[in-house]
Amino acid sequence: MKHPIKTSESDPAFLEEITEEAGAEKILMCFNCKGCSTGCPVTDVVPQYNIKKLLRMSAMGLRDRVLNSEHLWYCTTCFRCQERCPEGVKTVDTMLKLRSIAVKNGVMLPAHKKIAEYVMRTGHGVPIDEQNRKKRKELELDELPGTVHSCPEAIEEVRQLIKACGFDRLIGFDQPSRA
Ligand code: SF4
Ligand code: SF4
Repeated sequence: MKHPIKTSESDPAFLEEITEEAGAEKILMCFNCKGCSTGCPVTDVVPQYNIKKLLRMSAMGLRDRVLNSEHLWYCTTCFRCQERCPEGVKTVDTMLKLRSIAVKNGVMLPAHKKIAEYVMRTGHGVPIDEQNRKKRKELELDELPGTVHSCPEAIEEVRQLIKACGFDRLIGFDQPSRA
């Protein structure tokens, strides 16, 4: 069932926040030609996905609807829509700004929190596994890359950086000793 938009849902401060980003104010130039949504590869998988709709809701200041929309996370950032827009609307840059606002407000998909937790625990979103160690050796690379994997003591610095931005609280991470 579709939910009609109420004027009370519109938050002008949301639009101000989005348009802090250079170029994001261009979402107000959108004239609804659908050039961005046509040909978006995500729609092959999720037909309801519509970048134009998300941007239009943002321009209307519909903070809660936008930040709580799963569609916010579907874009692959291929930039096809941004290159096509005849008005030069920064579709992807604006999408990234919306994601950033969502994360600052603690809105993330569980899978994203899980990846962030891996970074806190191991220094990597995708920690190395046996298969990749083996592959690296076959390619005559060091078995471990020159990251926290080969310099485990650096994990404390990674954690300090993440904590300094308060990101650990956003993802609900409170057990650094599990690494
Ligand atoms: S291509 Fe640009 S002008 Fe056309 S609907 Fe998309 S954002 Fe709006
Ligand atoms: S950048 Fe995102 S919204 Fe734009 S065409 Fe690619 S997947 Fe679709």
